[in-house]
Amino acid sequence: MAGSLGHAPLDLGPGALRVRRSMSAERPGETGTMLPPLIDHHVHLMLVGPDALRDTALAGVVDLGGPLDTIAAYARRDGVPRVAFAGSFLTAPGGYPVDRPWASPGSAREIVVEAGDDRAALPTAAETAVAEQLAFGASVIKVALNRAAGPVLDAATLAAVVASAHAAGVPVVAHVEGDGMSQLAIDAGVDAFAHTPFTERLDDDLIARAVAAGQCWISTLFVAGYGEPTPEAAIALDNLGRFHAAGGRVLYGTDLGNGEQPLGVNPAELALLVRAGLGASAVIASLTDPWPVGVDEVGDGAVATFVPGEPPASLDALPDWLAAAGLSPAEDLQQY
Ligand SMILES: [Zn+2]
Repeated sequence: MAGSLGHAPLDLGPGALRVRRSMSAERPGETGTMLPPLIDHHVHLMLVGPDALRDTALAGVVDLGGPLDTIAAYARRDGVPRVAFAGSFLTAPGGYPVDRPWASPGSAREIVVEAGDDRAALPTAAETAVAEQLAFGASVIKVALNRAAGPVLDAATLAAVVASAHAAGVPVVAHVEGDGMSQLAIDAGVDAFAHTPFTERLDDDLIARAVAAGQCWISTLFVAGYGEPTPEAAIALDNLGRFHAAGGRVLYGTDLGNGEQPLGVNPAELALLVRAGLGASAVIASLTDPWPVGVDEVGDGAVATFVPGEPPASLDALPDWLAAAGLSPAEDLQQY
């Protein structure tokens, strides 16, 4: 009823457009919402397989760790989802995820620092490890900082990794797990966290530093408990809520391949983003952020996201509405 105290429509952000499918489309005349390409910023194709996400709503994925040559070959293939990747996990000798049963051979690259590794004329072990990933086309460098599972890179080696990546214009994403690992990464200028920190509460000062540095946090809230109220799930939700409230840049990501999750957009991850305090436009921004590449590199504009039906009137309905999205040729969608 016009003029009543009805539900105000959710603000879906500047990228959302009301569209109608053209007569040439599969379901001509169908109305819905067009969104920019949806991206899962944390997947492992070595675990889900290269074709598992072909028929989902995901237009892009970011592979955050696997055998370098294999993942690079997946990324060269045509079609959706487009694959950006880190290549191997860079880690300390014997560090996480070396010897993990799920880590395919070649997915961990140990950085062995030799005595005299600071000779100015030669590339250091850290520089060589970064250069290997970049040579195969990596657009982000992944470091594993998991003190709970073994040795971690010392601060000087981590700084050298970050400097090498930044010299090439590429960001560094860290898996942080265990006491003090978040601070080690933030001190080193690491650009992103592969998971919202889930083993330690970050105090507001450290979160403020992360925000001021422009850090991105990839959510992966669902895998912190798989729907159960674990201590890790509570810590992650609290950290992400305060990071978002402080203005931090949140990226949707699921760690797809790690445990049982739906292929495609996971509505449970979206529901946890809502619980962390993200509004509709922030949830959609986290799903459509082009990180780690620029917006002009995400695609050629030929593929768009189409969400059928009326947009949701409440945040509670947002996850399932978004999970019903699909890909559509952009030329089949007409604004009205
Ligand atoms: Zn992962």
